[in-house]
Amino acid sequence: MSKPSPDVYEQGKGMDAHNQVMREIRSRKEASYDPHEPTRVWLDEDNTPGGVKRSLTIILNTGGCRWARAGGCTMCGYVAESVDGGSVSHEALMDQIDVCLEHEDENADEPAELIKIYTSGSFLDEREVGAETRRAIAETFADRDRIVLESLPDFVDREKIGDFTGHGIDTDIAIGLETATDRVRHDCVNKYFDFADFEDACAEAATADAEADDAEAGIKAYLLMKPPFLTESEAVEDMISSIERCADVEGCHTVSMNPCNVQRYTMVDELYFNDGYRPPWLWSVAHVLEETADVDAIVVSDPVGHGSDRGPHNCTECDDLVQKAIKDFDLRQDPSVFEQVSCECELTWETVMERERSFNQPLTR
Ligand code: SF4
Ligand SMILES: [Zn+2]
Repeated sequence: MSKPSPDVYEQGKGMDAHNQVMREIRSRKEASYDPHEPTRVWLDEDNTPGGVKRSLTIILNTGGCRWARAGGCTMCGYVAESVDGGSVSHEALMDQIDVCLEHEDENADEPAELIKIYTSGSFLDEREVGAETRRAIAETFADRDRIVLESLPDFVDREKIGDFTGHGIDTDIAIGLETATDRVRHDCVNKYFDFADFEDACAEAATADAEADDAEAGIKAYLLMKPPFLTESEAVEDMISSIERCADVEGCHTVSMNPCNVQRYTMVDELYFNDGYRPPWLWSVAHVLEETADVDAIVVSDPVGHGSDRGPHNCTECDDLVQKAIKDFDLRQDPSVFEQVSCECELTWETVMERERSFNQPLTR
């Protein structure tokens, strides 16, 4: 498996300009944090290959994303923390897990069947989460059905997955692929790895799956709907083909399409401020879900900040309705939910899809 890394790709590989701009934008804000507190924790429910499950989502604070320090992705408002070296100790990480378990205890009637752990980086990168901590976390959640762990493809490894499947936990690795098109991932998102690296990671997960006695392992791909510099119709086209390509890769069973929202201290924010970016229409999200409903994977979308100017939105009148249809689709995978929603603004969206060109975008706000 190839070994791309933020250090290798930062200099002299055509990404210097994006990184320089992103570093400058990010440096306008510095954050500090308490390493004993998770970044966020919440309860929800999620569609998985094993059905809809009650979930506990944990954003672990692991000292953060190295790629963000180099400059990082154009839409990601993750702010590099001001702690030198940026590593968080085993004890502090386990304290964070305890805080999450207390939150669950206080707010849920029963323990969640599904645990999702994100780090704004890679849970499987041992510089973020060491082997000792990884194994202790696997043991903590040994009684749960399923776990989702976020990682860049570089760090996906059958033995690390085995730490979880060995306890009988079905294990999914969440990879922020963003798009299956290398050119869009490199030039619009400023993310350094290739689709081939994603395919390698899927193959590792498929091997871990075959090696596990009584648990499954697989990949959940996260895609970014409408990165900057694409028109609405280009973004839709890119997303449809990305979902189809991901669903075709063995080992990838779920695709989560995330509509881009405008986060502060990002290049997307600069463009938005200068009338150069509009988040995707919710009609586009619905359209992509309809068009890809028959692929061989679960396809879901959870539009964050829907209905607001900085989030995916239509005309404001119909935003809640379309969002509700999308959430319905997530759980039931039935595209007919979209037949029941309509609004006058569909005509505007259709016109945008037809007429917007990258040299005159966005056509409306
Ligand atoms: S999207 Fe992920 S890889 Fe990119 S800068 Fe943000 S945290 Fe890092
Ligand atoms: Zn509308």
